[in-house]
Amino acid sequence: MNEATNDRNGTYDVVVVGAGAAGLNAALLLGRARRRVAVIDAGEPRNAPAAHMQGFLSRDGLPPATLLELGRAEVQRYGVGLIRGRVERIDPGFEVRMVGGPVLAARRILVATGLRDELPGIPGVRERWGKDVLHCPYCHGFEVRDQPLAVLGTGPGAVHQALLLRDWSDDVVFFQHTLEPAAEDRERLEARGLRIVEGRIEHLAVDGDRLRGVALADGRVVLRAAAFLFPRMVPHDGLLTGLGCEKDANGWVASDRTGRTSVAGVWAAGNVVDPRAQVVTAAGMGSAAAFALNNDLLDEDVAGAVARHRAAGGAR
Ligand SMILES: Cc1cc2nc3c(=O)[nH]c(=O)nc-3n(C[C@H](O)[C@H](O)[C@H](O)COP(=O)(O)OP(=O)(O)OC[C@H]3O[C@@H](n4cnc5c(N)ncnc54)[C@H](O)[C@@H]3O)c2cc1C
Repeated sequence: MNEATNDRNGTYDVVVVGAGAAGLNAALLLGRARRRVAVIDAGEPRNAPAAHMQGFLSRDGLPPATLLELGRAEVQRYGVGLIRGRVERIDPGFEVRMVGGPVLAARRILVATGLRDELPGIPGVRERWGKDVLHCPYCHGFEVRDQPLAVLGTGPGAVHQALLLRDWSDDVVFFQHTLEPAAEDRERLEARGLRIVEGRIEHLAVDGDRLRGVALADGRVVLRAAAFLFPRMVPHDGLLTGLGCEKDANGWVASDRTGRTSVAGVWAAGNVVDPRAQVVTAAGMGSAAAFALNNDLLDEDVAGAVARHRAAGGAR
């Protein structure tokens, strides 16, 4: 990444935190709108463990890192500054403070810092995450279609995931582990033709670079080609809450359809405010935020111009 320049008056129109799909797409539009923009990124996109990114029209199957590489090259064409580093705090006004680095002044802020997937502590899960331990049937279901699949009952959402996955394979086993399904859920799983296996999972059995199966505490190993689980998704929203942004009833920072938060001048886009956003959705949220940010800046620019015009005796 190159160093950003903010030489016109020392203040950026927009500082974007996070250069995933959300942040980069916003920067692309803002750069094309001739705004002074810097994007600061710590270089840890959520889907980095996956070899391929699926479901993005015209980019289906591209390595995730390649999409971001292309995006960074595109925004640089419009003069957007890319800075590698981590933002530790944003002060009102706005002053963007990087860990061990400079302080950037900005008129507006877009936070696109994504989320963290908190994985269960079952040995093997972290190592196989994004390879053959997966969470999203829409992202990876097609690649493991018609294969023996596992759903690990590690948290809420697992029953729905299992019911859904049945459309990708007729051999789906639901491992209860710590999530004993209610009678009604058990009936729904069985009605869909899923097998339910009781007992604690001890570890995932791995052969070389492939999942072999699910090993249970009683010694059984159930052979499976891929396993799905529903991680706890924790937003990287510390910068937003630090600025005083309000949360919704579900504990996520609240924002409107353009990403505008409850704090004037602060927008958010992508997984940091929406755990359901896929890459294409996150990019779209970045685009919507860019439109709104640019209009907000325009309102301020026009108000300033009118005030100066009047002061110069322009008003009748
Ligand atoms: C294993 C896996 C596979 C996936 N596969 C697919 C798929 O095939 N198709 C699909 O559509 N979706 C997929 N997803 C979902 C996809 O990862 C998200 O939709 C997407 O990453 C959201 O983009 P984002 O811009 O909101 O966040 P991210 O891509 O996570 O980008 C956020 C960026 O902000 C940076 N950041 C965070 N905090 C700071 C800070 N304080 N200072 C500076 N920078 C910071 C991070 O380092 C990161 O680079 C997958 C997810 C996982 C976990």
